[in-house]
Amino acid sequence: MTKATLGRVLGAVLIVLGTMSSAVSAPQRTPTAASARVESATFREAGTALVFVVQLSQPVRFDAIGLDGPTRAVIDLQRTATPVKKDLPAGNAFAAAVRAGPRPGGSARLVLDLAPDVRWRTLTKAGTVVDRIELELTGGTVAANSNASAAPAAITAARDPLKPVDLAHDPGKKARQVVIAVDAGHGGQDSGAIGHGGTYEKNVVLEIARRLAARIDQEPGMRAVLTRDGDYFLTLRQRIKRAREAGAMMFVSVHADSVRDPQVSGSSVYVLSEKGATDEQARWLADRENAADLMGGVSLDDKDPVLASVLVDLTQSAQIGYSMQAAERVLASLREVHEVHRPRVQQAGFVVLKSPDIPSMLVETAFISNASDERKLTDPARQGEIATAIFNGVHRYFVEHPPEGSRFALERAEARRVANAEERRKAGAL
Ligand SMILES: [Zn+2]
Repeated sequence: MTKATLGRVLGAVLIVLGTMSSAVSAPQRTPTAASARVESATFREAGTALVFVVQLSQPVRFDAIGLDGPTRAVIDLQRTATPVKKDLPAGNAFAAAVRAGPRPGGSARLVLDLAPDVRWRTLTKAGTVVDRIELELTGGTVAANSNASAAPAAITAARDPLKPVDLAHDPGKKARQVVIAVDAGHGGQDSGAIGHGGTYEKNVVLEIARRLAARIDQEPGMRAVLTRDGDYFLTLRQRIKRAREAGAMMFVSVHADSVRDPQVSGSSVYVLSEKGATDEQARWLADRENAADLMGGVSLDDKDPVLASVLVDLTQSAQIGYSMQAAERVLASLREVHEVHRPRVQQAGFVVLKSPDIPSMLVETAFISNASDERKLTDPARQGEIATAIFNGVHRYFVEHPPEGSRFALERAEARRVANAEERRKAGAL
């Protein structure tokens, strides 16, 4: 992607609202120590609905947002210590799992992985400071015999296929697929950069993208989705949308770079810049119609502009962090097969990276404007080498950051179990 191409292609959608961003930015991001604890998190029945109740040790500000693909209800608790797994309720027919994780600034995030068709709403007003939060889930199936004990366990349907049963002993079988969106840049009337030897960026990046997707599909527990698998034009928003619809956990856009200086060569990896995020945030707020789509189904309509900007900011700044970690691994991996143009991950305002809920990176595989790089880009063996290098970086990221329920998480649990058993065996032998 050349600077000129970037301007042309992204011009229509990359809206830099300098003045507006200053008006809507500046949400508090100062790290603060956690002061509240989650005293209990439970489900209680209410007719055909199920209510998720969070009791806190003291009042904190909370927000609730929804995420799609898979459908999740998210509760963010400011200045709250992240609860450990044993303090969270087991999954049930409405919510397959309840998870928790730390957020920037000392916040805790609770995530409910909702069963299909389950709808949710907060019974406690979002954006307020409270010590008890209630979230109502409807549309699921409460077990017929549930009134007997009225305990949350009664709702937990043992036969529920969504319930994560002891998967650790059966890795690979029921694991949740780690879906990677592989995005070949350009396409159709948009050829991308053109090499001196007549190579079109759109063609070579599609070849590399296909090889990357094939490598991902070979890996148990992983699956690739190509945003385009042919020579046609897609808008940048369509690319993000396809990735989200496929439930992608990572978005990798494949490009080839070009500059006037034919000596310049090597790979670079980009993630979204904070500035790009800020501009994008301004754009979302300016364009409510697109906002719902961009936030992955998070409705901003009923939220005041300041709260909406905080929600967008929290989601996006965390994603930049995850994207950076993944991009660093891809860059390190590319360095093993190809020289790198820039030794560090670069940050820019590429629209295609602006997915607030999917870690995203853009790989400039090589310089199509450099004769040697251009030959590499058209050589099937080198295309495969580059694709494998990108795969290795992405794979390493998921080994180190295993998504819950994925093969990576199950294998890690299994490795721990084996190690513990070995420890005990050794201890017993002494
Ligand atoms: Zn490009």
